[in-house]
Amino acid sequence: MKTIVKNPLPTCDICRGTAKYDAPTIGRGAWAYMCVRCYEVHGSAGAAGVGFEFTTEATPETDRAEEIAAAIENGDIDLAVSLAGDGDLLDYL
Ligand SMILES: [Zn+2]
Repeated sequence: MKTIVKNPLPTCDICRGTAKYDAPTIGRGAWAYMCVRCYEVHGSAGAAGVGFEFTTEATPETDRAEEIAAAIENGDIDLAVSLAGDGDLLDYL
């Protein structure tokens, strides 16, 4: 199943909870946004691997900035510099 970034997460079409998947429903065949629970009941069997899983994961740039901030907090400047790579470390601070 492919993961795609979606923030904020859409609403589950079945229970109006927070959706985690966009996948075909059993029987109906129509695609729907589904939360984890509804996906287990209405979406997984027979359609495993079909559809998309949502993640709210931030962009790689933000992740990198967080990693660098954590490295600096831990006093590991060498790690922070290597995480910045070709970029300017100051851009991440
Ligand atoms: Zn639901």
